[in-house]
Formats: sequence, C-alpha cells, structure tokens
Amino acid sequence: MTLDRVCKRFGGVVAANEVSFSLSPREVHGLIGPNGSGKTTVLNLISGVTEMDSGNIWLDGQLISKQPCHVRARGGVSRTFQHPRLLKRCDIQTNLYLGIDLANMKQKSMTSCGYTLSELLDAAGLSINMNDSITTLSYGQQKLFEIVRAILSHPKVILLDEPAAGLNSKEMERVVALIDCAVKGDAAVLLVEHSMDLVMSLCNGITVLNFGRPIAEGQPEEIQSNEAVIEAYLGR
Ligand code: ADP
Repeated sequence: MTLDRVCKRFGGVVAANEVSFSLSPREVHGLIGPNGSGKTTVLNLISGVTEMDSGNIWLDGQLISKQPCHVRARGGVSRTFQHPRLLKRCDIQTNLYLGIDLANMKQKSMTSCGYTLSELLDAAGLSINMNDSITTLSYGQQKLFEIVRAILSHPKVILLDEPAAGLNSKEMERVVALIDCAVKGDAAVLLVEHSMDLVMSLCNGITVLNFGRPIAEGQPEEIQSNEAVIEAYLGR
C-alpha cells in the first residue's frame, strides 16, 4: 500500500499534511508521534472513515482513496480501534464474523498457509465460548479479540490503533504473537503505538508525525537517534 501526499484539514487544524509512505506485505510499519500529531487521522483516511482533502492511496496498484469504507474492507483493509468497538448486546460469534466476507475468508484460509481461527485464538490466549456475551471478556481480552477479528479475514493491510494501550505485560505478549500471525499470513501491518519497546522491537520501518507532517522515516535505529524525533517526541 502506498500513501502519496495525503492531506486532511479540520477547520484550522492540519491533521495530515502531505503524508507519504509505503507498506510491503509482511512489513510491520510504525506510525508514531505526540498526541494530536495525526496518527489516528491517517488510519481513518486509509480505512475510509474520513474523506481526505487531497492525495492518493494505492493498494496493489488500485486507487482506493475514493472508495467507501466497506469496499476498502472487502478489498483487504482491516483495522482495530483504540477502544474496542464491539456490539455489547451480541454474542462473541456475532461480533467475530461481523462485516467479514465469509466466502472470501474460507477460500483464503484453505489456500494460504497463514493461520486458522483456533491458532489466532490461541495466540490471543482466548478460550471462549462462541455463544457467550461479548461483555464476558475483560477490556484487555476485548482488545485482543478485536485484533483476532481484524486478522481473521486475511486482509492485505491491518491498521492497529494503539493495540497495547491499557494492556498488562502478558497481554502485550499476546499482541506480539497476533502480529506475528498477521505477518505469516502475508499482511502488511501499520502500527500506531506509544509503547516504544514494542514499536522498536517489532517494526521494520517507522514514520514519525508531528503536527500532521512526517518529520522522519527510517529503521528503528535511525529513528531513535534522529534529533528532530528526539526533540518532538522521544525526549532525551
Ligand atoms: P493522534 O492520533 O496522533 O493523537 P489525531 O489524528 O487524533 O492525532 O488528531 C490530529 C489533530 O486533528 C488533532 O488536533 C485533533 O484534534 C484533530 N482532529 C482529529 N479528528 C478530528 C475531527 N473529527 N474533527 C476535528 N478535529 C479533529
């Protein structure tokens, strides 16, 4: 997937200012920066929740930036939210398959060597009864469940918005295991995350935003020693 000079303004705030970067299959790409720097806006622009002002987004050579959300989802863009968005009145099974193209999913899980649902649930440490209410899961389990759901459809791109926020260290290990599954299934993962340990250990490439604008892009070692990034975000 490629973002090419993507821009989004909310009134006087430029939330995304000429944002460009590319993700390859099996890459974990970090998107970091201070609060309010535009990270979630970029995820919303990619998934189609927010309409961009200018720029282009390409997926497998196809221009997707004018497509509605559901078309992008069907075309292989999936995501999680900072706070899980699940249907509280529905059971686990309904939440799991919500919005998933089942025929497509079954075909892919038969033809690719990525993962099965039970492997994903194992990686997430979730032993669940499909008929239970989603509210029987703790907050951390709901976040992990949402990642399982995002990976289950074998997407090309998975957007994770602060997957580790609010999780304990054991649950954070589960996030890492799930990202491993996604990568094995050939997905590209875009990771918005404040845990620098997680970002620096998992990511192949990192883009840093400040006031909506990319101020650095590179490998973890380059980013950690970049003066502009230290000044704007990492501190000394
Ligand atoms: P981050 O995810 O890095 O914390 P956001 O993308 O949430 O940053 O926000 C970037 C900027 O855009 C902030 O100044 C925020 O207040 C503003 N913003 C985000 N979404 C909206 C919106 N729907 N309406 C108005 N302003 C918004």
